[in-house]
Amino acid sequence: DVRVRFAPSPTGFLHLGGLRTALYNYIYAKKYGGTFILRMEDTDQSRLVPGAVESIEDMLEWAGRTDLITHLHTHTYTPTHTHLHTHTYTPTHTHLHTDQSRLVPGAVESIEDMLEWAGIPPDESPRGGGQYGPYLQSQRLSLYSQAADSLVQTGKAYRCFCSQQRLELLKREALRSGQTPRYDNRCRHLRPDQLEEKLDQKVPHVIRFRLESGVEPFNDLVFGWNRHEVAQVEGDPVVLKADGFPTYHLANVVDDHLMKVSHVLRGSEWLISTSKHLLLYRALGWKPPVFGHLPLLLNRDGSKLSKRQGDIYIQSFQRSGALPEALLDITTHCGSGFNSNRVGRKMEELIAEFNPSKITTHSALLDLDKLPEFNKIHLQQRIDDAVQCDWLVRDLQVRIQEVYGTQVQDQDVLQPDYITRILHLRKGHISSVSDLVSSEYSYLWVRPSFSDQQMTALSSETQHIATLVIRLMEGLKGGEELTVDQLSVELKTLAKKTSNTKYRDVMKIIRLALSGLQQGPSVAEMMVSLGPSEITHRFNRVLQ
Ligand code: GLU
Repeated sequence: DVRVRFAPSPTGFLHLGGLRTALYNYIYAKKYGGTFILRMEDTDQSRLVPGAVESIEDMLEWAGRTDLITHLHTHTYTPTHTHLHTHTYTPTHTHLHTDQSRLVPGAVESIEDMLEWAGIPPDESPRGGGQYGPYLQSQRLSLYSQAADSLVQTGKAYRCFCSQQRLELLKREALRSGQTPRYDNRCRHLRPDQLEEKLDQKVPHVIRFRLESGVEPFNDLVFGWNRHEVAQVEGDPVVLKADGFPTYHLANVVDDHLMKVSHVLRGSEWLISTSKHLLLYRALGWKPPVFGHLPLLLNRDGSKLSKRQGDIYIQSFQRSGALPEALLDITTHCGSGFNSNRVGRKMEELIAEFNPSKITTHSALLDLDKLPEFNKIHLQQRIDDAVQCDWLVRDLQVRIQEVYGTQVQDQDVLQPDYITRILHLRKGHISSVSDLVSSEYSYLWVRPSFSDQQMTALSSETQHIATLVIRLMEGLKGGEELTVDQLSVELKTLAKKTSNTKYRDVMKIIRLALSGLQQGPSVAEMMVSLGPSEITHRFNRVLQ
């Protein structure tokens, strides 16, 4: 049975990188009749990755905990750490990172919401449950300590009583001599009586996994044969912290095993950790899953995706009117793993065209500039689908109220019929529903208001034009949709009936009465968008 999982750490909201990982897992599951699991890795966030320090700081600031920042700076987050996310976990780090995880309230909920919004809902998840739950690691702590205990009992792991000061010292010494800090495995060699004594004295301790050499190579679905002699480059890693929380490696392995995960598809930043995971599987006597690492997702200029290069969070795309299909296109278009990179594919087509053997190892460059173009294509498809179009209408109603609020004087402009008509008219021209609430289109939602003074100053000519337009609309109402061409002809005829006003001035008057604007889109175009009843309504107000 194919069982795959997306296992984000809720230290932030879902971003494009996460969406891509989730999508590939979803597609893999659907392609092979399998199950897609969402598991929240909310226990250990000891990942030292580029950008992590900044983002931790951001979150601390956001949470009003600037007091922790000095604490952060006192520790040696040097550039050497950045590519060594697997190394040197000290209790200090994990403490900070655990704090970090608490700092993003709502992330768990929102990640699941976003997957649903994107049309890739999990089959098993914290919210929906499933046979192998709970799906939140923080609710599975006893499982990790059981595994850690069993490792200790079989001699595959050991208790480490080294103090933070000692670890700090080791680290500083290493950095001073230009080496990568690593734990020196001292507690591996504790004598039974020393161990007894420490336990009697209740000295706080962590559990470390004894890294063995002789790592077996594994055949990665994407990167092919791989092997990292972890024991040569790092000290024995902590698997259970002093507070009883597991670290990522242990929790991840235990859960993938217990949740019967068959294939692990995750970002290539984890490739280097896989040998360590395989050592854990071996030590626990478990059969490992198949691994496939997805190439890095980078900005078009080759820099790492991070919120510093613009907002990459799915929620902000959603807010700006991006459609999930377009976001999926963005991630699949730049990536690999499909028989073509055609844009505008539906989910069934993505599933049919998915071909894991086509995933390449080189980084995928995200071209966000293409988003408007992709969005336009999908928006058009959605407008043409009655059910989807209703959904867009509701979305737009909310946006209109958000943007124009009290300026929307009459509910007429919020009527589904009115909005639907406009969507159909503008499809192919707009790339997002949010375009329709931009100032360019404000005349659609906000009726012009004229002061009493302006009203009394209205010339009899204006009144005359208003009467003519209303009459014209009467004649057109209920019939076919207006077209710009047809209206242009009608307006020319209308202008002839106004004895002493030039065509250009007639147009000015009509534009002003309709929108309060001196300039803007062509009058015919405006009139097509507004439609006969809204036009009549607006001119009736001029007449009063
Ligand atoms: N919690 C890890 C992350 O946030 C999961 C890595 C994995 O899929 O094994 O990326």
